[in-house]
Amino acid sequence: MAKVLCVLYDDPANGGYPTSYARDTIPTISRYPDGQTLPTPHAIDFKPGQLLGSVTGELGLRKYLEGQGHEFVVTSDKDGPNSEFEKHLHDAEIVISQPFWPAYLTAERIAKAPKLKMALTAGIGSDHVDLQAAMDKGLSVVEITYCNSNSVAEHIVMQMLSLVRNYIPSYKQVIDGGWNIADCVSRSYDIEGMHVGTVAAGRIGLRALRLLKPFDVHLHYFDRHRLPESVEKELNLTWHDSVESMVKVVDIVTINCPLHPETEHLFNDEMISKMKKGSYIVNTARGKICDRDAIARALKSGHLAGYAGDVWFPQPAPQDHPWRTMPNHGMTPHISGTSLSAQARYAAGVREVLECYFENRPIRNEYLVVKDGALAGVGAHSYSKGNATKGSEEAAKFKK
Ligand code: NDP
Repeated sequence: MAKVLCVLYDDPANGGYPTSYARDTIPTISRYPDGQTLPTPHAIDFKPGQLLGSVTGELGLRKYLEGQGHEFVVTSDKDGPNSEFEKHLHDAEIVISQPFWPAYLTAERIAKAPKLKMALTAGIGSDHVDLQAAMDKGLSVVEITYCNSNSVAEHIVMQMLSLVRNYIPSYKQVIDGGWNIADCVSRSYDIEGMHVGTVAAGRIGLRALRLLKPFDVHLHYFDRHRLPESVEKELNLTWHDSVESMVKVVDIVTINCPLHPETEHLFNDEMISKMKKGSYIVNTARGKICDRDAIARALKSGHLAGYAGDVWFPQPAPQDHPWRTMPNHGMTPHISGTSLSAQARYAAGVREVLECYFENRPIRNEYLVVKDGALAGVGAHSYSKGNATKGSEEAAKFKK
């Protein structure tokens, strides 16, 4: 029987685990835009719309796993050598973790887990695992492709509009009892007519382009693989052969590539200096794709008019992380891919992967990142070899 070690974020601090919800149901969706089916487990033991990503929610897995005789450990205590996570690693066969509250699986931690066979990401983006070490040790790395891509695209549009229209300071006027309209509008513009570009046009990037089209903006993209001509025509897209070429001409950049050695610190001082003065960046991909201090500097100097997103490095972000206090930002904690709607999809996807694993059935190719010592499935398309977890031990600072 296997030990399954699952790291989830804490239950709500206000009021504890919910006993009722704002809405009774969530819409039923059967296929993703490219035709991929939603997860197909034999069964689920939760009600879609429930909070599943926190420790009490347990991704709805306890009944199933314990019913099969497996040991199931759930904790939010993930950072540092004395964490519950490290205490349980030595005999864990499967580690489950969500990118929102990542259990960093560094080479050192993988070395402490001789029985580990699979790192399963309840979500998309497995950069919290040292993929090179996983390849070297023959571990499988699996994620739930598409489960929250559309959720993130919605967040991108929300944050772009929030920045450009100066929504957050205007909301704050109301909360603070004010009515200074000039304060609100002296940084407020229409997005209509602006040039908007995405770094990567994968599932999230393409969805964001489609959602943005009705705003009558000019759409641009950079991706290593070009989209079909029919899609370029439909969305009137301008393709660029480099990130540099695109950032020179757009007003807003949205970043939608995975974090891997090729994309780490892509937006550094040099890249930002090539952007037009007064540009905005929305980064919901991974914090480390941007150089933390270069972003803070560019906001302070005014070269960037705004920065938003939900991804940080490390996570949780230490109290003194400069993005908490830099000017003109619209950051949230890492939430875009863990709406209650998304949780239902990735919890069902995790259940599907576990059923396949324990029944010796193949896991869907589109869920694979690493298998048999090499990048595979979505990993072979979207990642590069190497490791992007360096510095993750800083996450332990959050506790202090
Ligand atoms: P996809 O795999 O569908 O798309 C990723 C795209 O990135 C691919 O089109 C790939 O292009 C492109 N890409 C890879 N490397 C580069 C590079 N060096 N330069 C430019 N493009 C590159 O994944 P999704 O769109 O679903 O997700 C993308 C990322 O978003 C995830 O990896 C994750 O980090 C993040 N994410 C964040 C969430 C959140 O809650 N904030 C939730 C879900 C995902 P190609 O291979 O064609 O070159």
